[in-house]
Amino acid sequence: MADKQDEKKITPRSEDFAGWYNDIVLRAELADYSPVRGCIVFRPDGFAIWEALRDELDRRIKKTGARNAYFPVFIPQSFLKKEAQHVEGFAPEVAVVTHGGGKELEEPLIVRPTSETIINHMFAQWIHSHRDLPLMVNQWCNVVRWEMRTRIFLRTAEFLWQEGHTAHATRDEAERETLTMLEVYRNFAEEFLAIPIAAGRKSAAERFPGAEETYTIESLMGDGRALQCGTSHFLGQNFARAFEIRFLDENNQMVHPWQTSWGVSTRLLGAIIMTHGDDQGLRLPPAVASTQAVIVPIWRKADDRDAVLKAARAALSALEKADIRARLDEREGVTPGFKYNDWEMRGVPLRIEIGPRDVASGEAVMARRDIAGAAGKSKASLEGIAGHAKSLLAEIQKNLLLQARAAMTANTHQVDSYARLQEQMSGEGGGGFADIYWCGRAECETKIREETRATCRAIPLNQSLVAGKCVVCGEPASERALFAKAY
Ligand SMILES: [Zn+2]
Repeated sequence: MADKQDEKKITPRSEDFAGWYNDIVLRAELADYSPVRGCIVFRPDGFAIWEALRDELDRRIKKTGARNAYFPVFIPQSFLKKEAQHVEGFAPEVAVVTHGGGKELEEPLIVRPTSETIINHMFAQWIHSHRDLPLMVNQWCNVVRWEMRTRIFLRTAEFLWQEGHTAHATRDEAERETLTMLEVYRNFAEEFLAIPIAAGRKSAAERFPGAEETYTIESLMGDGRALQCGTSHFLGQNFARAFEIRFLDENNQMVHPWQTSWGVSTRLLGAIIMTHGDDQGLRLPPAVASTQAVIVPIWRKADDRDAVLKAARAALSALEKADIRARLDEREGVTPGFKYNDWEMRGVPLRIEIGPRDVASGEAVMARRDIAGAAGKSKASLEGIAGHAKSLLAEIQKNLLLQARAAMTANTHQVDSYARLQEQMSGEGGGGFADIYWCGRAECETKIREETRATCRAIPLNQSLVAGKCVVCGEPASERALFAKAY
């Protein structure tokens, strides 16, 4: 039997990270390019990952008290202009609809790049009294930003996301909500996606247009570049003023509410690939894998076929009964070796091999995707296979986070001189996180960006106040910040 695998090997990660990434996306059938430049097609295997993470995050968001709603994709162009920083930030990348039904529109419509404007327009009509607060809505939708340089999942003209928008009676309550969501995102990324997070505040230059403060969850990808995985914004009263949202407070005064917005997007699919993938392909955390365990039956002689398949089908049914998302690879005409490689490439966390000798001894071989080679293999009795698989999947979920965290820690360096920072960020790839004292001034941040291409990714919260000196200017700095080259 000819092994077709060799002619389709994916580019090794260490050789060409971008080539490797594209190979995985296409070969694992997660997504494809579309005829519209900058837009992608989510294929079922990719969309299933999105659905799994969406469902779980949706549950967690609802637990905080927000409820789902849906607002239109079209927004009157004039709305964007109401908040000065917001228009400056988004105007260059909005798509504008000028014609509908064969006629020129009286007012052009923009395709939402984010929904602050239209949601706040509605909030102004719904919020009248302190009894209407807090108002907390979330929407799952697509947004469009006309990106010039696109990359599947990471930067596309159209992407999917959730955007939460809340209004509160007091500044304090809104600030707490911003941090609550930051923590929801951090937990979700670590527990569900096995992606280790550095959380913190953004610098003024990296803030969301129109926000008073932006908080972020950042992670480090396999090539040492940082990826922003989600953001939570404290909007102050900026949008409430722009959209004239007022309510009668407990002292009978008309005042503006305090607001937040927060979101994560399909970019997280890119984060999963780049955090966990290896030279063999994708490695999916069991929580998001649409196939958590695949059974590969092995036989050479026709006589063995029936007994092996019978045992494999019994194992499949046991796994399914235990709510494990499992499948049996009954394909004929390809070798077991081909199947192993194929499922490894697709990132299935657990492979179960059943051959004639296993059937005879009442056992199966369990091969973990997170640990390569013999070290990742163990035997399980066919009788207790579901329980065994379940505990292995839980271990794999935890281990992927541990592996990723170890990689992030190894790639985070406390740097105390500008020369060392330059050295760390030299070269074509990423340089990991540089953990530096920074005085907080824009000049020093700009110098770093222009000379090393690293940007301020996050200023960690609750730092102990041991003051130091800015690595750029030598002036006193009260905080450390994480800088990195980023996607
Ligand atoms: Zn400085």
